[in-house]
Amino acid sequence: MSAAIMPACVACGWQGRPRRIWCPRCGGAAWADAPLPEATVVATTQVRRHVGGVVDPPEVVCLVTTDDGATFIARCDDAVPPKPKDRVSLAFDSGLVAHALPKSSRARAGAKRKVGP
Ligand SMILES: [Zn+2]
Repeated sequence: MSAAIMPACVACGWQGRPRRIWCPRCGGAAWADAPLPEATVVATTQVRRHVGGVVDPPEVVCLVTTDDGATFIARCDDAVPPKPKDRVSLAFDSGLVAHALPKSSRARAGAKRKVGP
């Protein structure tokens, strides 16, 4: 497994594949490889079948949006797959893989919990 590296626009930081001639956000033409930022899970689903066969055991895939706004579909290999709104890091391991990040202390304490009177 390796860090998820994607071409990034040197001028504005937009990332995506395939590598473009011009940046779709700012029109820049200079590119450098950079690690993908962390992401938030938008939705998850289980893949039980694909063209040509059954997926056994079922594979969990998730739609994620990175902190800079790019959207990807990633495989979720963790024993406990992430849920929508969970934070994940992205890596490459025979495709893009999302790994759940530890929840912040605020989230563990229950972000919606009312504190005080
Ligand atoms: Zn750009």
